[in-house]
Amino acid sequence: MAIYPIRTFGDPVLRTRAVDVSADDDSLGRLVEDMLETMYEAPGVGLAAPQIGIPKRIFVADIGEGPFVMVNPEIVEASGTWTFDEGCLSVPGYYWPIKRPSYTKARGLDIHGEPVEFEGDELMGRVLQHEIDHLNGMLLIERLSRKDRRQALREIREDSLRSTGLQ
Ligand code: ZN
Repeated sequence: MAIYPIRTFGDPVLRTRAVDVSADDDSLGRLVEDMLETMYEAPGVGLAAPQIGIPKRIFVADIGEGPFVMVNPEIVEASGTWTFDEGCLSVPGYYWPIKRPSYTKARGLDIHGEPVEFEGDELMGRVLQHEIDHLNGMLLIERLSRKDRRQALREIREDSLRSTGLQ
């Protein structure tokens, strides 16, 4: 098993749409073990493969009820709204109130290619939305309103200038 460095904001892999995992991909077992170890070490409740530089449609998550994996997931149902202070391992240290559907159902495959379905309200629904966004090259910042996004980007830029001593 191995812990990967987590790619952060500004890395182009986070803005790239990940590709479907093919049925004969036999590296998945190992990849999932590494992703879980990386997620628990961080620690986080979810991790998508692009966050460790692998542009494949797979994520792992654990909201405290045990780990699960989805391969080639898609959202098949979403309803309601829920605003929550959301964070992301790829934008460490920031939390923004982000409005998303409260209920989400996603369908995909497990690592053996068998169909799986996960659904839930609030945190579970949010993790499904957040991780599938990663597979589509989308970060949580893009879920903010235009005005809040501008403010968030300014905040990140100022903090990074400060930490590199340029300001
Ligand atoms: Zn994230």
